Amino acid sequence: MATSSKKIATKKAAAKKSAAKTGRQNTSNKTKLEVWIRAAGHCELCGKDLMLEFVSLKNLYEGEVAHIFPAAAGGPRGSKTYTAIDAARLTNDPSNLMLLCPNCHKDIDKSPDGTYPAEDLTDRHQGHLEHIKVAAMTSHNDFGAAVIVLGRHFSTQNSIEPSELQRAMFAEGIRPHRIPRQVVLPEIIDGKRDAHYYQTVTGMLRRAIEQEFSVARSDMGDGALIAIAGLADIPSLMIAGTVLGDRRRRAVFSVDRGTRLRWPDLKAARPHYVATLPPEGDGPIALVLNISATIPPDDVRDAAPGARMATFGAPTPSFHHIQNSGFIAAFREQLQVFLSDLETMTKEPILVFAAIPAAFAIEFGALQTMNHQHGYRIYDRAGKPSTFVYQLDLNDELKEMAA
Ligand SMILES: [Zn+2]
Repeated sequence: MATSSKKIATKKAAAKKSAAKTGRQNTSNKTKLEVWIRAAGHCELCGKDLMLEFVSLKNLYEGEVAHIFPAAAGGPRGSKTYTAIDAARLTNDPSNLMLLCPNCHKDIDKSPDGTYPAEDLTDRHQGHLEHIKVAAMTSHNDFGAAVIVLGRHFSTQNSIEPSELQRAMFAEGIRPHRIPRQVVLPEIIDGKRDAHYYQTVTGMLRRAIEQEFSVARSDMGDGALIAIAGLADIPSLMIAGTVLGDRRRRAVFSVDRGTRLRWPDLKAARPHYVATLPPEGDGPIALVLNISATIPPDDVRDAAPGARMATFGAPTPSFHHIQNSGFIAAFREQLQVFLSDLETMTKEPILVFAAIPAAFAIEFGALQTMNHQHGYRIYDRAGKPSTFVYQLDLNDELKEMAA
């Protein structure tokens, strides 16, 4: 024992000396241990099991704690502006460290510049950690396939990372079946979404959702559910809902501008939505959904002259409307009753003008597959300045899917 601790002490002194000489920073044993545990003892790039050495302590350093950004200025993947101060700061930051086998470590550090950019390593590192979480979670409360729907018609940044949805699922006690699948909808040419666009969207969503769900179900049987989050145009999100269908168990998530996919307030009480029936008359009914914003009645009149307006909405519409999953359930339950009322008042399709969060658009689509045989004609804002423009008949999409 005495000799080995002496050896370590000598090693430490040597390391200190070399740090002073080369500017190379040392990672503490405490941090190294955290990196080992977090990686579950496997190389984060090739998956090699390094645990045997760890347990026997025969050759502990077979597994190497590697830096994404280097331990010294001028090291691999360090940019020109990367300084000794950066190195000192990041060398004990576990988010900058990964566990590698010697071969992979050599590969990434000796490969030509740019072959292993730091971002690429960070992605693979995150992927490895998410896999471990999935594998380690033993709660079988719920188990789900997961799909992210991303539209491309917003100028603002509109992405949801797979790891974000995974974290949101874990928080709800749902074990993700595998890395969530991102479906990136087609580009919108000249701002026009035509029938062809919606046909393509329907096909893409159908393939992705059916495939993910059937794989999860083949592993987990009827216990499988499907988790979905989206950032896309409202009609496309409604289509995603029709593909999901109302009978399938689902967990719908929504992006809040502040808290992203985390629910802002788990304890917030379910809202009571305010609904007004349309005036008596003969014109078509325009259903105005004011949840994330209030749609000016004139905007509806411009797009649908002579329509009789019915409204359903939050007492105070806001982009931060959804506080937790109870809000989605309340929307679904209360809207379903209201739609049944409206359907008795007209035989014509109901025109829909919606300012609603993504999760509600998905729920609206799912509701249509339940007992609503009625036609729903969806309008959405388009062009500059934006006006409401007819987009599609949701029940036509449904019929096409059934065919
Ligand atoms: Zn490896």
